[in-house]
Amino acid sequence: MTTSFNSGEADTRRVAVIGMGGTIAMAPSASGGIVPSLGAGDLVASVPGLADLDVTVTATTLRSLPSPSLGFADLVALSDRVRAEIAAGAAGVVITHGTDTIEETAFFLDLTVPEAAPVVVTGAMRHPEAAGADGPANLYAAVRVASSPAARGLGCLVVMSDEVHGARFVRKSHTSSTGAFVSPGFGPLGLVVEGDPRIRGAARVGLTLPADPRVSERRVGMVTMALGDDGTLLRLAGDAFDGLVIAGLGAGHVPADLVPLVAEHAARVPVVLSTRTGAGSVLRQTYGYPGSERDLLERGLIHSGFLDPAKARILLQLLLATGESTAGIAAAFERFR
Ligand code: ASP
Repeated sequence: MTTSFNSGEADTRRVAVIGMGGTIAMAPSASGGIVPSLGAGDLVASVPGLADLDVTVTATTLRSLPSPSLGFADLVALSDRVRAEIAAGAAGVVITHGTDTIEETAFFLDLTVPEAAPVVVTGAMRHPEAAGADGPANLYAAVRVASSPAARGLGCLVVMSDEVHGARFVRKSHTSSTGAFVSPGFGPLGLVVEGDPRIRGAARVGLTLPADPRVSERRVGMVTMALGDDGTLLRLAGDAFDGLVIAGLGAGHVPADLVPLVAEHAARVPVVLSTRTGAGSVLRQTYGYPGSERDLLERGLIHSGFLDPAKARILLQLLLATGESTAGIAAAFERFR
């Protein structure tokens, strides 16, 4: 159902809010704990000051899920819906979403929605009935950004705690803090000051891929390396995956004993080398020992650029859905260096 607020305003000032679930839409349940229960219309109606803006806000609930349970079919449906809203004249789109996977959804939208209209994902760390709930302030700021000409052409943005982050860099870095969202090494692209978006940068690289429904059929595994890893997981993976992302140690390293196994996978499917550190790029030419970045790249692993493992997986999954060759996949990742 789509609910309209402030109707009567011109469509060029319309912001479409799409609800996906998450803590921002949760309430205590009879069986304990909080669960998704509010629709996008409820969220919009609860934000002080939104009705006073010179913006028409429409609200649609597309999913009502905790974000760990979203899948690629949901992201394809969301991407389609976002593009449909823009085609129907929305000046911008806001997605309310669980924070656990907000960074993955934001990057998926960044890659699949090429339009200039701002697409903003937001959520909350505290549910609506909690003391100091942050959802209303985040939604307010998100609508302000989505309706701002300053945010056009910047790709998908994540707005939390009055900070504007680029989808390419943003990460959830804390389990419960309202300041959980960071863009390691780069910082936010902008701030929302007294409701006014001030944006000073762009993160998008301009690569556009189709939101191909086959993305749900591709299997990309993500394997985090650790001290003493004997390769059991990689061995068990066998040929179950169409692609792999290695969350390497440090600048992109694996234990020496695992090199033959990793190389075996890389000879069969695209294997992307990222880092588990949480910030920075995998290196290319510094370390020369077995299992180093130089060794692994020489054995055909694909450099992830600045993409962290979760984002590298989104990109690889979308590329595999379009049937891209390994060389084409490597070229796409080069754009994120
Ligand atoms: N577990 C919740 C979710 O991602 C957390 C949140 O929304 O903040 O749906």
